[in-house]
Amino acid sequence: MNSLRSYLAGRWATGSGDGETLVNPATEEALARVSSEGLDLGAALEWTRRTGGPALRALTFAERGALLKAMSDAIQAQRDELIQLAVTNGGNTRSDAKFDIDGATYTLSTYAEIAKGLGDTRWLVDGEGVTLGRSPRFHGQHISVSREGAAVHINAFNFPAWGFAEKAAVALLAGVPVLSKPATSSSMVAHRIVEVLLEKKVLPEGSLSLLLGSPRGLLEHLAPQDVVAFTGSGDTAFKIRSLPQVIRNSVRVNVEADSLNAAVLGPDAEPASETWEFFLKDVLRDMTQKAGQKCTAIRRVLVPAAVLERAREEMVERLRGVTVGNPAHESVRMGPVATKAQFDDVRHGIGELAAEGRIAFGGASDVRTTGVEAGRGYFVSPTLLEVEAGAAAPRVHGREVFGPVATVVPYSGRAEEAAEVVARGSGGLVSSVYSEDAAFVETAVLGLAPYHGRIFLGSPKIAEQSPGPGTVLPQLVHGGPGRAGGGEELGGPRGLGFYMQRVALEGSRPMIERIALKRKPAGEPA
Ligand code: NAP
Repeated sequence: MNSLRSYLAGRWATGSGDGETLVNPATEEALARVSSEGLDLGAALEWTRRTGGPALRALTFAERGALLKAMSDAIQAQRDELIQLAVTNGGNTRSDAKFDIDGATYTLSTYAEIAKGLGDTRWLVDGEGVTLGRSPRFHGQHISVSREGAAVHINAFNFPAWGFAEKAAVALLAGVPVLSKPATSSSMVAHRIVEVLLEKKVLPEGSLSLLLGSPRGLLEHLAPQDVVAFTGSGDTAFKIRSLPQVIRNSVRVNVEADSLNAAVLGPDAEPASETWEFFLKDVLRDMTQKAGQKCTAIRRVLVPAAVLERAREEMVERLRGVTVGNPAHESVRMGPVATKAQFDDVRHGIGELAAEGRIAFGGASDVRTTGVEAGRGYFVSPTLLEVEAGAAAPRVHGREVFGPVATVVPYSGRAEEAAEVVARGSGGLVSSVYSEDAAFVETAVLGLAPYHGRIFLGSPKIAEQSPGPGTVLPQLVHGGPGRAGGGEELGGPRGLGFYMQRVALEGSRPMIERIALKRKPAGEPA
């Protein structure tokens, strides 16, 4: 079987031992093997810092932006091959795979554009300078410079392309070299992307390394200038944050974790209205896209009790039309979940949620599939549950079932109540409000805001242009408080802050302005 190699300290290497086997989740066919056993991860991290760091820091933002554009183009040129890998190794339909890969290229090219605006300088001037003394001569100014460590990027299995690119784009633009560790189960896509970028020599040596398989002792080698950007479960985040070397060295850790995202239908949205249709379309897309394995997917569907039955029946009707099966088959609209562990966890989770309400569609038992041998693959039916109005339902508001699963939660139609119910999720990435009633939207938004990183205002006025709440846009921040990990990524230039050190300069104004406003002429060595 093919062994996938890591790229560490400037060479491709395979670990020893049996390692782990990557499979096709639709057929359970073994595809490749990975292992990180015996690899010198401390040396790999040091090489990243020493080789990639100086090379990137010598470039201006505009020059680093040109690298991001070249990355985007290189990935785009390989799009068809990457889609095929995502179908085989990720259980993605072609549409799911495009969502991931196009998300990657779009994020890279967006940051390439942002870089143009930052221009021919290598550090950022943060806000206006301030006069500190009696005369303007005594001056203060904040600037942000690249940190001199490595960026360790640990990604979840669901977005091997986009997850890689959204973190790499921001770190590289900030001048910090990257050691990327994709989730093992779906790593064929990330592996191929890095292979292509290295083959095409898109980046300066040392800017990008790849670790496949278990992270083992990698994080034991973290130093004070390093940063860790993690996406995955809250449990793994807790382990990373608790590591002695993270605590001792004050290593910055950004966490993007679980989330019980909600969609709130306003009482003004009448059945069959444009707002109603927009809402249903977004709920259905989020339940089935990537088999519901999106951190931003709608998990709780808040519907005014007055229209509960109609809303539920329309959702059920649409779910009935979803063909589940092998995504290699053209008619299939939803593939399997990514791994056997996911399969077991989702089925168990459905049972836990069902104990607090009832199943309106689907459930944990076997599902009819297209294009697969009976009994093969990790298939779960799209599943809609429902709880009673006013039910405490601690699992519905506390357990993320990471699959094609959502629960309908009836509420009175009052915005304050909707916000209060959503807040029981203890912090989320994104929630959405579908209403044209300005007073309802305002009250709901202000009630939801302390608990979220993003709020989606679902109006027919944006329906034609909007990809829905489940799509993370590089211009806006991604992250959320509490359960969602307390992190923040992207957000245009805001995202650079994590990889840079803000420093206050205090002294004479001419000296500070000379440093802060210095420009590097293009092409001139640092
Ligand atoms: P996971 O089990 O926490 O794994 C995430 C990553 O952490 C993988 O690369 C994994 O490597 C690695 N890892 C595991 N143990 C580690 C350790 N002790 N130290 C360092 N790294 C370690 O999560 P998952 O099952 O892949 O992803 C599903 C979860 O991610 C869901 O809860 C979902 O909500 C969340 N998620 C959040 C976002 C977001 O943006 N907020 C996006 C996507 C997913 P291996 O694969 O080699 O084990």
